[in-house]
Amino acid sequence: MEIKFFNTMERRTMEFNAIKPGEVGLYTCGPTVYNFAHIGNFRAYMFEDILKRTLEYFGYKVHQVMNLTDVDDKTIRDSRAAGLPLRTFTEKYKKAFFEDIKALNIEPAEIYPAATDHIPEMIALIQTLMDKGFAYQAEDKCIYFSIDKFPAYGRLARIDRENQRAGVRINSDEYAKDSVADFALWKAWDENDGDVKWDSPWGPGRPGWHIECSAMSSKYLGTAFDIHTGGIDNMFPHHEDEIAQSEAASGKKWVNYWLHCEHLMLNGEKMSKSLGNFYTLRDLQAKGWLGKEIRWVLAGAHYRKKLNFTFEALAQARETLNRFTAFFSRMRGVNAAGDGSEIAEKIRLSLEKFGAAMADDLNTAEALAQLFDLSREANRLADTGTLSAKGALAVLEAFKQFDRILGCLEVDKEPEAEDIPAEITALAEERAAARKAKNFAESDRLRDEISSRGYLIEDAPGGVWKLKKK
Ligand code: AMP
Ligand code: ZN
Repeated sequence: MEIKFFNTMERRTMEFNAIKPGEVGLYTCGPTVYNFAHIGNFRAYMFEDILKRTLEYFGYKVHQVMNLTDVDDKTIRDSRAAGLPLRTFTEKYKKAFFEDIKALNIEPAEIYPAATDHIPEMIALIQTLMDKGFAYQAEDKCIYFSIDKFPAYGRLARIDRENQRAGVRINSDEYAKDSVADFALWKAWDENDGDVKWDSPWGPGRPGWHIECSAMSSKYLGTAFDIHTGGIDNMFPHHEDEIAQSEAASGKKWVNYWLHCEHLMLNGEKMSKSLGNFYTLRDLQAKGWLGKEIRWVLAGAHYRKKLNFTFEALAQARETLNRFTAFFSRMRGVNAAGDGSEIAEKIRLSLEKFGAAMADDLNTAEALAQLFDLSREANRLADTGTLSAKGALAVLEAFKQFDRILGCLEVDKEPEAEDIPAEITALAEERAAARKAKNFAESDRLRDEISSRGYLIEDAPGGVWKLKKK
């Protein structure tokens, strides 16, 4: 099967060819461990999981590297605010991250290198850039990358050379396109860094964020590999700077395919820590939502389209997944005789279309349509008693194939009586909104209604609530 991806570098969809036949080197920019990741971050990790599972579905052996950014401007700022040593502070969020990806059934990467364990590799890479004349030490003792020396700078983000301000320096890890400038590779220690510092040939300090990914990717994937991904906001400056560092050092092309996912939105704005408009996975779990329901919502939209997060979508995911669970149970109960030929062709076609959709730049929406289509046909045959046990078993096998990529169907699971219906959760959401708006008459009315339908709401501080069966 020919696989095609939209390569951000070329701004077009291209056939995927691996450097080593049958193997893929995949670098995925990982979390900055200064807080619990929000579901916007998880949209990026989910997209990468779907990408990895799709490559595996087509027989590739994927070697995925995901870094953990455990030293940068934000981790230092917040660990100091918390009065904790950097490592103690970030350890908590590393642990939380691994718990969260497990809850979302994200396949683990092959390796999760942490930045603080790779300082010597970063220093060596900066030294190479110094030796080759791409980097210099400024009066502030920091080492900067000279974008003027790297003519391809700006190619990924499409920045004109005229807009580049060579010689002007920027020291922060994150900055906007209109402040493109020489960026920091090594940041000289100052009092804001507290006790966070390492020795280097240029004095005590710490690495810039961008050099972390260049150093760790080349250590684990070599100086040229297949795919590099991240959220679209990583494209500039992070990925642009990574390319400059890596290609200047090695003198050759670094990454063959760049894939970026669009943002998860909340009420029309990018979900982000800095805007304060975010839900962590834990927020949603506390409200009773399951990892597989969140997974279904995040997987359902095409990765290059903005996705607006809503609780209605989650409620719908619950309803859909519960319906599939009931459908699988029905299929297990089919016991009519027959050789399965009544549905064999339909299954073959559904699998073919599912594979073709995923191979077409991860068209999950089209792939999901095959699930509904196949279940409709199987139900139709079962209604008329023309589906055989053998046919039903083959249908279940097809859904297991779909789930190798989707990872949220739980085909073998029996329906649970205590699954909370979507409309009850929706009423609880309405009640929470009414409470927030201080409309207590309405929130009491909704509580009574939920109670009359057999469920209880338990409130906890901070507007958190949980539903229980009475
Ligand atoms: P950070 O921890 O800020 O470096 O972000 C981790 C990953 O999440 C990066 O790949 C970001 O591009 C991505 N990301 C952050 N916010 C969103 C969002 N609202 N939607 C999708 N991806 C996001
Ligand atoms: Zn990165």
